[in-house]
Amino acid sequence: MSGRVRWRSGPDRDLWTTRHRDCESEAGFDSLGEAIFVRTAHGGHGPECLQSLSAVAYLGGHNDDDHYE
Ligand SMILES: [Zn+2]
Repeated sequence: MSGRVRWRSGPDRDLWTTRHRDCESEAGFDSLGEAIFVRTAHGGHGPECLQSLSAVAYLGGHNDDDHYE
């Protein structure tokens, strides 16, 4: 491993964008990074966005230091 940053770009993000494109579908998450990405991407969609809700729920089940307002 070279410690490359794979947050800004790369195949993971492309996969996540496709996988979580539909607000009405509920997809699982393979990593915290994926959940954070989805939470950010769908963050302003409101209570009817299952992607946002499931991402928040996923992140809420983990003890990380992310500051969530
Ligand atoms: Zn959404």
